[in-house]
Formats: sequence, C-alpha cells, structure tokens
Amino acid sequence: MADHAPKRDVVVEAVAREAESVVSLVLADPDWGPLPAWTPGAHLDVETPAGERQYSLCGDPAEPGRWRIAVLREPDGRGGSVWLHDSVGAGDRLSVRGPRNHFELVDAERYVFVAGGIGITPLVPMVRAAAARGADWTLTYGGRREDSMAFVAELARYGDRVALDTSLPNDAVREDVAAIAARHGLLLSDGAPVTAGFVEPGNVRVVVTRSRAHVPGCPDWSDKMATNLENRTSDDYGCAVNSNLAAMIADPEHLLKGAEGTGETVVMSSTKAIQSYRKQEPTGAEGLPAVSSQSGGN
Ligand SMILES: Cc1cc2nc3c(=O)[nH]c(=O)nc-3n(C[C@H](O)[C@H](O)[C@H](O)COP(=O)(O)OP(=O)(O)OC[C@H]3O[C@@H](n4cnc5c(N)ncnc54)[C@H](O)[C@@H]3O)c2cc1C
Repeated sequence: MADHAPKRDVVVEAVAREAESVVSLVLADPDWGPLPAWTPGAHLDVETPAGERQYSLCGDPAEPGRWRIAVLREPDGRGGSVWLHDSVGAGDRLSVRGPRNHFELVDAERYVFVAGGIGITPLVPMVRAAAARGADWTLTYGGRREDSMAFVAELARYGDRVALDTSLPNDAVREDVAAIAARHGLLLSDGAPVTAGFVEPGNVRVVVTRSRAHVPGCPDWSDKMATNLENRTSDDYGCAVNSNLAAMIADPEHLLKGAEGTGETVVMSSTKAIQSYRKQEPTGAEGLPAVSSQSGGN
C-alpha cells in the first residue's frame, strides 16, 4: 500500500453496534490532543493483520479530537473487517494513515444522495454538511432490512429528506397496505421516509405523510395583507386560486372528507362572487337586437 502519509497511533475510545454486522469505532489521539482536520468523503487507512483497509470517516468534522469509522463484518473476506469486529475493543490502539479525501463533496445548491448498505458511511457527514449549508438535498438509502442498515436512527432527524429503500419482508404485506390505502384514495409510495426506532418482526410501519404543494413562480402572499374594498380580483388571482387548490389537495384529510369550514361566512371570498354578479352588464342593456324570423329560408 502506498505510504502517502505517516502512520499515527490512535486509541479506540468507544465501540458501538450500529446495525446487524456493523460496528462503529470512535478513535482519539492517545494523548487526547486534536486530530488532523478532515472533510466529508475522507477516509482513513487502518492497519490490520490482513493489510491496510480503508474506512470512511462518518463522524462530525467539527469535532476535532474524535474520528468515527463504521465497519461492516465481511466473513468471506481476507480478515481485515473480521479482525476489527472480533479483536478490537475500547482502549486498544490502532495504527492509521490519513485522513485523505478522494470523494470530495462539490459545492452545489441541490444534491441527490444515494447510498447502499455500508456505502452510507461517507454520506453521513455529507448530508450534515448539505443540511448546514441550507442546500436542497435528498438521500435514498437502500438496504436489505432496516436492522441491517447503520445510522438509520441518526438520519431520522432529517425527516422526509431521507427515504429508506428496503426490500420489505413480504410483498403480500405491501399489497395489503396498498389496498387499504387505495380505499381512501391514497397511494402507497415506493420508498418510505426514514423514521426513528426499530420495527419488531411481525409488525409493519405505515408512515402517513402530509405534503405541502405550491405552484412554481407564484408570489408568496403569506406575510402580506392588502386591503381590497372593491373585492377586485388582483394580479396573480389565478396564482392564488391555484395555490389554494394545490394546498387543499396536499392535505390528505381534505381528499377524504373535504375541507371543513368554520361555519362563518368569510366576507372577502363570499362577497366577491356577489359583487362580480352585480357588476355584470345586463344582457339586454343595449336593447334587444332585431332578428327577423323571415330572413333566410326559401
Ligand atoms: C475509499 C474506501 C472507503 C471504504 N469505507 C468503508 C467503510 O466505511 N466501511 C466498511 O465496512 N468498508 C469500507 N471500505 C471497504 C474496506 O476497506 C474493506 O475492503 C472491507 O472492510 C473488507 O475488508 P476484509 O479484509 O474483511 O475483506 P476483503 O478481503 O477485502 O474482501 C472484501 C470482499 O471482497 C471479496 N473478495 C476478497 N478477495 C476476493 C477475490 N480474490 N475475488 C473475489 N472476491 C474477493 C470478499 O468475499 C469480500 O466480500 C472502504 C473501501 C474503500 C476503498
């Protein structure tokens, strides 16, 4: 392996089970000094009896004295990951090189992150960075089952931005849930938003999501109030109507039961129709046109 950087000793401060076959190791300087800075996407080269193995840093770059890696146990490999799982514990020392980054997070306004299995490790600090920047981002995280996927609970704080894509244990369960949802006019989405906690075998978690819809390009009137004594339709009236419609449709309860009113008449909306009706020119205002029933014909 290339000796790109000097080796340093680190002490394993903590070991935690993150998922089935995945442990995380928190590494610190043996003298509790700072560790070299790193950026999302960086990895360490960790010396094992099977040779050097690479592990992505998946902690918080803002924490200078701690590195965190997560290791999937690969029983069919040459032994590097099995050794880290079975023979390394809190208080042990490891020899590492790095960090170095071959997977930099580029600057962008929008990110679509996709992770499969242990490939989630470099993306954990990336989504944290994207969220801190206020970027628009989503993460689709695929795995065999939720309990085999590391950091699901940690990612739950991002809500709907993260979708778990697991092969559900039973297609029949999915079909049953889809049939019940369909009776209420609701569709079952392909992916589920990430939620905290583990689903016990034999149970199924159904996530009902309320969405917000908007009409692109329409102004946001929510913080403005305009007095309109005439109840004239204003510029962007169409926008307002369409936005209201979109918001209504986005509320699944309204689809089932219709929007419930307060029982009171809302003057701004109810008088608008009456005023428009009253201001209409009468159809006969200019006199009735003379139409001869004898013109034409044979
Ligand atoms: C940049 C980078 C970042 C990484 N980050 C992580 C991480 O965050 N977490 C993590 O768990 N792993 C990560 N890895 C993978 C990690 O470095 C190790 O490869 C992994 O832990 C397996 O090591 P091992 O010695 O147990 O198995 P290895 O011997 O390396 O085997 C790995 C897999 O390859 C198969 N294999 C081995 N030899 C052969 C062969 N001759 N022919 C066909 N198949 C073979 C094995 O069956 C096994 O499934 C990363 C790798 C890179 C390059």
